[in-house]
Amino acid sequence: MVDNGVSDSLFKMPTIKFTKLFINGQFVDSISGKTFETIDPRTGEVIVKISEGTKEDIDAAVAVAREAFDTGPWPRMTGVERAKIMVKWAELIEENGEELAALDTIEAGLLYQFTKFEIPAAADMLRYYAGAADKIHGKVLKSSGQFHAYTLMEPIGVVGHIIPWNVPLMMFFTKVAPSIAAGCTMVLKPAEQTPLSALFVAHLAKLAGVPDGVLNVVPGFGPTAGAAISSHMEIEKVSFTGSVETGREVMHAAASSNLKTVSLELGGKSPLIIFDDADLDKAADLAFFGMFFNKGEICAAGSRVYVQEGIYDELEKKLVEKAKACVVGDPFDPKTNQGPQADKNQFDKILSYIEHGKKEGATLLTGGKSIGTKGYFIEPTIFSHVKEEMRITQDEIFGPVMTLMKFKTIEEGIKRANNTRYGLAAGIVTKNIDTANTMSRSIRAGIVWINCYSILESDIPFGGYKMSGFGGKDLGLNALHKYLQLKSVVTPIYNSPWH
Ligand code: NAD
Repeated sequence: MVDNGVSDSLFKMPTIKFTKLFINGQFVDSISGKTFETIDPRTGEVIVKISEGTKEDIDAAVAVAREAFDTGPWPRMTGVERAKIMVKWAELIEENGEELAALDTIEAGLLYQFTKFEIPAAADMLRYYAGAADKIHGKVLKSSGQFHAYTLMEPIGVVGHIIPWNVPLMMFFTKVAPSIAAGCTMVLKPAEQTPLSALFVAHLAKLAGVPDGVLNVVPGFGPTAGAAISSHMEIEKVSFTGSVETGREVMHAAASSNLKTVSLELGGKSPLIIFDDADLDKAADLAFFGMFFNKGEICAAGSRVYVQEGIYDELEKKLVEKAKACVVGDPFDPKTNQGPQADKNQFDKILSYIEHGKKEGATLLTGGKSIGTKGYFIEPTIFSHVKEEMRITQDEIFGPVMTLMKFKTIEEGIKRANNTRYGLAAGIVTKNIDTANTMSRSIRAGIVWINCYSILESDIPFGGYKMSGFGGKDLGLNALHKYLQLKSVVTPIYNSPWH
């Protein structure tokens, strides 16, 4: 064992098969011939070199996506035909699940045990939207009078997807499944930290029968490849998930190019409010899971935990015990509860927030340090005596850092839960139905979990209020409509027997 808990015997390096750009159904080198390294967060070592897409490669990918949309079969197939291919793709994902899971573990530090859930969830997203592909239709508006009018729902065109690294496959299919079901063609840029699973599933898409040019995957960096997508004149829509700062840049680029429509799924600083009547053990489990699942690298993480004063002391004790018992180490090891942070930037950023918390006067109850001399491991960290105005309470840390606070009344709970510029998610723990109803209607967030947390399913819309995003939710049937546009058709009726 090395000192960060990564044992050599558990070091499973999957064979890496796909490292080039996927454009028009082929794996190709980037036009510049440049490559970049993808890093194993367990060790900080290079996994493999990836072809680096830049503006010229995005242009090439958009050109084939444009052609596939304007003249190719995909938008012209029936929904049932598209659905058959999507279902086949889902099957291939499950058949290749172990290999895919290992890619997300090795690049993003996801627990291998979790990726085993991620794979079926990704496949089910394809199946969910496959089921919707033949149910896209407009409405009849006027069937009598002098005009007949109806609406059509048409695919929006060429879509650009830009995604983050925290749950790579889930992010990929959250974007691709509804847009491909809608009949769009697309260029997707995975995060530079995690291109491998996106390239692998692109290969599976081809095997399933997705026509060339429909799905193009171009790894690269944000300011080059990402910016080329958001400013491209031939892309009709950009669907972005990532930070608020980048979201702003994407909007600016869209506004100053062709006014493409934009949907943004951004950060969060979500509250979990636990009332005195909660079952203590269940509340502690939920709060711990809500915050530390995937080492806090979850946009909806319940990072601000408010506990009603009657149970505060006991709950604090339980949470500290849990943090101390949490096994941080090799994400391939089934005994591990928390893997490494996804990259060095994340690691440094989280540790600097912990230092801020200490300097601002919060009490460090447990954790606060990195683990080992290689890789990006950080102890699960809990602060108490936290004030609302502190940076650790206001800023998204996106790491394993919980701020624990006490409140007295339901009114105070509502006020403090809403004291954030974000509005992605919230959780409530109570046995009282009236409290649950009042809270769920008073909190300004896109999803509220009552006595559960981070439940994300294909049919449950997910997306933020306030600065957590806008432009249509991900997941659920609403997401399909992000990739469709409404056309009204009007025609006169002559010699109607009803006039
Ligand atoms: P990020 O904004 O730095 O990067 C996200 C993506 O944008 C990456 O692919 C990156 O290469 C690209 N990018 C960077 N600069 C760009 C530019 N100028 N133009 C176009 N693209 C650019 O975010 P991150 O650090 O990778 O991800 C973490 C953030 O994502 C957190 O804020 C987290 O809350 C958020 N997130 C939100 C959701 C959600 O559904 N709301 C889900 C996961 C993550």
